[in-house]
This record gives sequence, C-alpha cells and structure tokens, in this order.
Amino acid sequence: MTALAHRVSPDPDAGLPDLPAVEELDRALRNAAPADIIARALRTVGREHLALVSSFGTESAALLKLTADVDPAIPVIFLDTGWLFEETLAYRDTLIARLGLRDVRSIKPIEETLSREDADRELWFSDPDACCRIRKVEPLNRALAPFRGWINGRKRFQGGARTAIPVVEQDAGRLKFNPFANVSREEIAGIYASADLPPHPLAASGFLSIGCMPCTSRSSPDEDARAGRWRGRPKTECGIHTAKAS
Ligand code: SF4
Repeated sequence: MTALAHRVSPDPDAGLPDLPAVEELDRALRNAAPADIIARALRTVGREHLALVSSFGTESAALLKLTADVDPAIPVIFLDTGWLFEETLAYRDTLIARLGLRDVRSIKPIEETLSREDADRELWFSDPDACCRIRKVEPLNRALAPFRGWINGRKRFQGGARTAIPVVEQDAGRLKFNPFANVSREEIAGIYASADLPPHPLAASGFLSIGCMPCTSRSSPDEDARAGRWRGRPKTECGIHTAKAS
C-alpha cells in the first residue's frame, strides 16, 4: 500500500488542511525525543487543531510538563467519568496550577445517557465495556470533534496491546501522536525528578496505574503497572485507544 493511501483526509466540510501520510511522519519521528515529537505535532496539525488527552494519573505529569514547555495553551482533554478518585481531581488542579496549563477541559458523560443506561451505577460490574463506552469513549469522541490530531501518553513498556504502538498513527480522520512510545519507566522518573514534579497522591499507596475507583486496585512491584486495572477480568483497555474515534 502506498503512503498516499494512508494520507489522513479531514472532513472536506471542515475547511481544514490535508495532513501528511502517517507512515512518513512516523518514520521521521521514530527516534525523536518526546519534546520534539510534541513540537512537530503542533507544527503539522496546526495550533487550532491539536489536543492532548490526559488521565492525570501516576505518570501523566511528565507528558503534561513537556507539552506545557512547548505550549501551555494546547487544550488538554480530561475525562471526568463520574467514578474518579477525589485524589485524581485534586491532582488535576495541582498540575494545572503548577504547569500553567491554560486550557484543561474536564469532559463528563451526558447525564441523560447515564440515567438511561446506568441509573443504578452498577454498569461497571455488569458490563464494563458498555460503562467505558458511555463514560469514556463517547465523551472523548465529542471532545475530539474539533481537532485533527491528538497526543496521548501510552508507552510500549506498559505491555499488552501497547507493546508495538508506533510514534504516529492514524485514528479515524486524525493523527494520533504517542511521544512516549519509546520512553522507559526510568526516563519518566527522570522527568519527574529533574522538574521536581509532584507525584499522584495515591502513588505512594501502591497504585501504579490509576483510572476509575471500581476498576482500579493496587499493584505489587513485580506486576505490570497496569495489572491493577480491571483486575480479575479479561479487559485491559477502556476502549479510547482501541475503538476508532469518529
Ligand atoms: S473504567 Fe470502570 S468505572 Fe470507569 S468507565 Fe470503565 S468500566 Fe466504568
């Protein structure tokens, strides 16, 4: 298949620029430093069309710091599912102030959808994929609608479906940038140390990866960081990286 076949074509009605071939960009950035990948994403997609998606979890401050250094006004989308730890909400506010993030958008599920599909708040137990769909996937699709590209913090060392992620990939009609694809856990710790970034308040309690309360448990040091997510279930991803955003 030619590179042209992988050219990302935005909605013609949106009046947005065409974007370069995904493979070409991935090849160019394969060994680039995370800050250079973020800067290139900004130049490629354009100031008005790039967002970052962050969970404000245990490793999120590193990517937020590098992004804020490039441009603190890049919109940051945060999915406030209605099931988050209070500590995560507080950490979001701490990092907004600390890093000078100027456009953090806390996106909530639609109340009407919650009333109709999860009135008793037990969907996380009976059908976690449906719960993630109404609380994460659909809200993210809405939030990303104005954007042509997005940045996220997945790493290959997280294992599972993340082992082989490229630096740049196509996500429906958008470019998706993974500046930390090649980065090690030690390098992330180094960013925290050199910038004196505060840890997530729950990190010291053994939470190595933090999502929603009912679906997050502590991990032991000999487990993968994400072992505490949906523990005891076959589910390993919420769907925002596996379901194609529209
Ligand atoms: S992580 Fe759990 S509580 Fe959060 S949206 Fe998914 S299933 Fe629901």
